[in-house]
Amino acid sequence: MKKVCILIPVYNEEQVLPLLEKRLLAVCNPLPYRFRFLMVNDGSTDQSLSILKHMRKRDPRFCFLSLSRNFGKEAAVLAGMDYFHEDALILMDADLQDPPELIPTLLKEWESGYDDVYAVRASRQGEGCLKRATAHLYYRILKKLSPIPIQQDTGDFRLLDRRCVLALRRLREQGRCTKSLFSWIGYSKKAVPFDRPQRAAGKTKWKYGALCNLAVDGITSLSTFPLRFAAFAGIFLFFLSALLLVLGCLPLAWPGGITPLMLLAGALILFLFGMQFLFLGILGEYVGRVSNETKRRPPYLTDCYNERKEENEEMDPSAASDSVMPPAAHRSPHRRTMVR
Ligand code: UDP
Ligand code: MG
Repeated sequence: MKKVCILIPVYNEEQVLPLLEKRLLAVCNPLPYRFRFLMVNDGSTDQSLSILKHMRKRDPRFCFLSLSRNFGKEAAVLAGMDYFHEDALILMDADLQDPPELIPTLLKEWESGYDDVYAVRASRQGEGCLKRATAHLYYRILKKLSPIPIQQDTGDFRLLDRRCVLALRRLREQGRCTKSLFSWIGYSKKAVPFDRPQRAAGKTKWKYGALCNLAVDGITSLSTFPLRFAAFAGIFLFFLSALLLVLGCLPLAWPGGITPLMLLAGALILFLFGMQFLFLGILGEYVGRVSNETKRRPPYLTDCYNERKEENEEMDPSAASDSVMPPAAHRSPHRRTMVR
């Protein structure tokens, strides 16, 4: 029987977990697969962890991996992938916005040979116009800037074949944007449309600020086009100012005397300052990314896996020069015996 891991990041989801358990079991129990429900507790401060413990007591197929604090959804997903050892992985949110009822369709497409079966939002309920419009715009910008094809209007809800997960966990960059990484790894992809319902209970964890950060991470991790754009704009501005200089030297009679010229000069100065700050910001964004990478911190630290307390071993110094550096815990035989 094939083994399937269902990976769910959980951050303060006490209200929705009991409902999630019920719906997951109703869908998965009749299916001919051996399931493991891996819940990654991303430093919840409510009763989520104790609910997860009770779920495990009721059904040992529920496993929980607790991180040492809140590291964010992207890190929580990577942590779950590091603890994956099945034939396929299904990634979904805890709040039932990714309906478990779609799981049989995802599995069916996987069985027909697709490696990455992703759910596409045909509609989004309960999201304001602003969120819908900005999400729409973001995907289009990402698509334009990205050198690789990006799947539009998809979240993280998807089924990944084992080899996709193994590829994804080799990508251990800081400021992860899983959405662009799914596209980057390639493999055969299949879209499954679904209507995205509202959150079943609780509140969204995303504030607009965090979403903006994620959007910038997504763009800067995928493409260096903004940097090149800054250089092109610099060249354009150089020619523009040369043209103005030539015009200024010509003996032309400017209507209205000096005042319009002063206004023009003021506007030009403001524009140039604005451009400078914008491009400094773009440069800073990439320098920041480089600086974060050079720290080589692990993307997350674990506290416990089920009843077992986890040790986050120190990095192996010999691996420090590798471009791909899985955490030492990932390589250690101690961890391997524990996960299997
Ligand atoms: N989540 C997480 N860590 C965080 C924020 C969110 O693990 O720091 C989880 C959350 O519990 C949920 C999923 O990520 O399972 C999506 O979060 P949410 O529903 O708040 O995002 P939205 O659907 O509003 O984009
Ligand atoms: Mg949600």
